[in-house]
Formats: sequence, structure tokens, C-alpha cells
Amino acid sequence: MSSKRGAPIREGKAKILYETEPAGDHVIQYFKDDATAFNALKKGQIKDKGVINNAVSTWIFRYLEKQGIATHFVDKLSDREMLVKRVKIIPVEMVVRNRAAGSICKRLGLKKGEPFKTPLVEYFYKSDELGDPLIGEGHIVYFNWATESELKQMTKLTLEVNRHLKGVFHEIGLELIDFKLEFGKDSKGHILLADEFTPDGSRLWDLKTGESMDKDRFRHDMGRVEETYQEVFGRLKQFFEGKL
Ligand code: C5P
Repeated sequence: MSSKRGAPIREGKAKILYETEPAGDHVIQYFKDDATAFNALKKGQIKDKGVINNAVSTWIFRYLEKQGIATHFVDKLSDREMLVKRVKIIPVEMVVRNRAAGSICKRLGLKKGEPFKTPLVEYFYKSDELGDPLIGEGHIVYFNWATESELKQMTKLTLEVNRHLKGVFHEIGLELIDFKLEFGKDSKGHILLADEFTPDGSRLWDLKTGESMDKDRFRHDMGRVEETYQEVFGRLKQFFEGKL
């Protein structure tokens, strides 16, 4: 198994994917400091975000694996590099919401912070050109993005991740408001949790102050962006140290 970085495969908004050298069943995710919002209409950088997001994703993937959830994570290679299993990403963004925030407030006229009695799962079609539109289960099956049983499995896993991570974040004084997950299929057809779990793709509100401790600070120019990423990193580090 090689963990030497090879040729770039594709560059996304926050990460670059590389082949290993020689190329094999694994690929390397490189986490950048680049930050985008509103479908890349807003662009910037958050100092050391790549280092923080690589560390945070590593802890979360290791933790979820311990809870029996299969992920693409293999190893943390360096500050910004993670070795992951090669998967074909299913082009469906799975979003879970515990309270109303962000796009659902606009779309359905909900009050920010309104709690949901049970976690609400939404699906979005992963397409930069189309701005990741909201879709229903019917679209996913009709367009063969996933089979009905794969979708059922992804939904179940997404809710399990929510259950586990709500607890983790509560322990460090944060409420998990919502988040986005992506899944992929390996060469054997197994569904694996892929991509990342970071404050870029989740909303985390401080339990005491209600303050946003996530990318909303960048999206809405709320200030203290870098400090907030560092704070979440520090709290998770303390929580996970010696546990994984
Ligand atoms: O924008 P919206 O409110 O629908 O986002 C819900 C959750 O999913 C947020 O935590 C957001 O950070 C995440 N998300 C994401 N990538 C997207 C869309 C949403 O990480 N393309």
C-alpha cells in the first residue's frame, strides 16, 4: 500500500484529490485553506483551516468507525493529507437538521433555531452548475444516483452519524444543528461514508452563548472566523485525546 502522493485527480473548493504513487485502491485528500460560500460567489481563505479540518475529520472518522460505521478513512498522512479508500461518490448530499437554520428557513419560512421533534433528512443533488438543488427520493432512484436500498442504507447511516455526533458535540459544549454527508461506493459495491466532517459542512452552536462556531461566521462576515475554527479544534482535541 503506497501513501506517496502522485498525480492530481481533481481539485474541489476545499480539497484536492491525488492518486498515490503508484496508483492503487487508495487516494489522498489534501485539505486547503480556501473557503467558499453561496455556491462559490463568496471566496476567501481561513488560515490553517486545512490543518484543522484534516484533524477534525480524522477524529470523527476514527470515532465513527469505532461505532461500527464504515468510512473511507485509512490514515492521516500529514497535517493536510489523509489517505482514503478509492470510492465513486454518490452525487447526493445528505443533510440532517436538528434545528432550522440556513436554506430551510428561507425555503419554508421557518424561524432560525426552531427545533425539529425528530431529525429531518433532506437530499440535494451534488452539482455546482445547478447550485446543489433540493431533490426527493424519487429523483435519486429515477436518475440512478442510488438504488432504493442504497438510499435507505445511506439515510439510516446518516441518522446514526447524527445520533453519535450530537452526543460528542454536546460533551464539548456545542449543539449539532445540522450537517452534510457524502457517501461513496467502493470497488465491491460497499457504501462508505466519504468526503469529510468539519465545521465547513456543519452548524455548531455554543451551548452557553448560542454563538455560531462554524462556517456561518465566514458566510455572514461574523468575525473571529479563524479563532472559532481553532476553538472547535481545541475542544475536540481534548475530547478525543486518549479515546481513539
Ligand atoms: O445551506 P443549508 O442550510 O442547506 O446547509 C445545511 C448544512 O449542510 C450546513 O451545515 C451546511 O454547512 C452543509 N452544507 C454543505 N455543503 C453544501 C450544502 C450544505 O456542507 N453544498
